[in-house]
Amino acid sequence: MGGDGNFFIRLADRVWDGPGLSRDEALAVLRAPDEAVLELLAAAYRLRLRAFGRAVHLNYLINAKSGRCGEDCGYCSQSRVSTAPVAAYPLVSLDELIAGASRAAEHGARTYCMATSGRQPSSAEWEQICAAVREIKRRFGLRLCVSPGLLSAEQARQLREAGADRVNHNLNTSRAFYARICTTHDYDARRATLEAARAAGLELCSGGIVGMGESDEDVVDLALELGALKVEALPVNFFQPIAGTPLGDRRAAEGVATVPLAGQTSDSDTEAKALLGECGDRGDSDAGTSDRAGEIQRSASSPAAKGERSAAAASAVYGKSSSPKGASSPRGAAALTPIYCLKVLALFRLANPRAELRIAAGRQVHLRSLQPLGLFAANSIFVGDYLTTRGGSLENDRRMLDDLGFSAVIDG
Ligand code: SF4
Repeated sequence: MGGDGNFFIRLADRVWDGPGLSRDEALAVLRAPDEAVLELLAAAYRLRLRAFGRAVHLNYLINAKSGRCGEDCGYCSQSRVSTAPVAAYPLVSLDELIAGASRAAEHGARTYCMATSGRQPSSAEWEQICAAVREIKRRFGLRLCVSPGLLSAEQARQLREAGADRVNHNLNTSRAFYARICTTHDYDARRATLEAARAAGLELCSGGIVGMGESDEDVVDLALELGALKVEALPVNFFQPIAGTPLGDRRAAEGVATVPLAGQTSDSDTEAKALLGECGDRGDSDAGTSDRAGEIQRSASSPAAKGERSAAAASAVYGKSSSPKGASSPRGAAALTPIYCLKVLALFRLANPRAELRIAAGRQVHLRSLQPLGLFAANSIFVGDYLTTRGGSLENDRRMLDDLGFSAVIDG
């Protein structure tokens, strides 16, 4: 397959209208020889061009509530088993949510995204989120994407009725690997949320994290599952180990460098705030700059039990490095070479030809100098900081798009 460059082109032409990728084909894409990567990208670009032309959507993360999560997702700095020093603050006020949307509209954003940490919002938070959706839709007409955690069918219906267009809820990894990254909820709960959102008439934004120790088969299963769900938007994160999280600490013990947390004043931070204002304080901002943080979620201020839980969880669950029996070698963050990341993006494009494919966290760290090539498969990037980790410079990203001859579309 690797010697036949037309194989990937034929595959691209077939998956647009015909049968989607088979599992074997998907594995062949992910395991294509490195020398075939440009042929693979050419096939992915064929689909990307057909669906989105040369536009690149720029997305900004805005966290309306940070930290304080009772779940134990091993990669997440906001989880109850994390000792990473992230800002923790309750749901921002209705006025702040509306003010953020106002600034997004002023700056030409088409979409306003509201993300909250936690398994699911409380009743009071839910009322406020729905009220914000109603009011923002009425005043600004923005497209609205809400990332509220797990949703019931009734909540999905209420969200749609309030005026939301899209729900973000990542599957994150394969069903087989899910228990290795979280024990407080399962893959089916996440999938059920997506099904509820779809049934309510909401668009789906769902993607994953690659490099947490899963196998190639796990990556393929996630890509095909998202294809079966026909998600409208698909963020691909390349795992960045964060010190203080079980999965991050495990990678660090293996010699993989952890990444800095978001929030220290940086070019990207300043530029994004200039664009969207202070609302949301974008996700997992660090302790140092969270101007609304009522508390800082850090080991020094948390009960010792938290750290003990973290260590226990890390060894009992996340410490297992083997993939399910019969799967290929596990793929950790250390193995995320730029070329492998390009193959991952090509795989997700071929498995999801019409999805807005977004390169999310880990773009700068793992794709490095090959970032521009990623945009031949993906048509969307996060700019500014990510949920808990630092991003890059907005100016550099804009220059990259200019150099590629691509046009930027602000999604906000
Ligand atoms: S990923 Fe979401 S549900 Fe999991 S620990 Fe982080 S905030 Fe909580």
